[in-house]
Amino acid sequence: MTIETELCAARIRSELAAAGVEVDDRQAQQLQRFYEAVIARNQVMNLTAITAADEFLRKHYLDSLFGDDPERWSDIHFALDLGTGAGFPGIPLSIVHPDTRWTLLDATAKKLRFLEEIAATLELKNVNVLHGRAEEVGHATQWRERFDRVTSRAVAALPVLAEWALPLVRVGGSFWAFKGPKAEAEIRSAERAVGLLGGTIVSVDTATLPGTQERRTLIIIEKTAPTPKAYPRPYAKTKKRPL
Ligand code: SAH
Repeated sequence: MTIETELCAARIRSELAAAGVEVDDRQAQQLQRFYEAVIARNQVMNLTAITAADEFLRKHYLDSLFGDDPERWSDIHFALDLGTGAGFPGIPLSIVHPDTRWTLLDATAKKLRFLEEIAATLELKNVNVLHGRAEEVGHATQWRERFDRVTSRAVAALPVLAEWALPLVRVGGSFWAFKGPKAEAEIRSAERAVGLLGGTIVSVDTATLPGTQERRTLIIIEKTAPTPKAYPRPYAKTKKRPL
């Protein structure tokens, strides 16, 4: 058996297909080039601790595309990735779903400049970046309740995250929280918050990340009622007293 340590577009394509995610040649090339760009830029700025090809493929790409099914994206015109960091899950999702317009939100401008640059290089015309804090952006009429979907991974515990994400989702849209192995406890601790913010937990998908022993959970929260105007609260309040 040969163990491949390098990534190439063909390998990305076949590994994703094995995990149930179909991409074409161009998309596989874009994923390959994004991987190369992250690794190159990681030398001069702190983007990710995951640099080995195999691990990158699984923990960034398969993880970002966890639960991905074209049917779940058919009516999603506007999506926002909250706390996108080095572009996860936002960049893989924007490559796989080119008909959705993506806004990549982060509080750190430096990472966004990298993402803007790489989006131009990869001709990802459906990607825009937004510099700001979710708890402030969520009060701006331009953004509040404007998105069909908000995604987020590794940003905050669910009660806090729900307060930042749900105000941005339009009624009828959904919030996808990408979580690790302790999702059940997080869900219990967030049930009240989700309800107060106008959300309903509609699906919890749990599976092992292919090729690893790691459990992942995708929590899908539908926006079923408008979020009361008081939310999101200022950062210190949300952190000190999560809903
Ligand atoms: N989603 C990425 C990055 C996780 S690190 C991944 O899974 O790899 C968390 C990121 O969230 C950081 O880049 C940080 O700047 C951003 N962040 C944290 N709180 C935020 C907030 N309230 N509003 C916007 N971005 C936030």
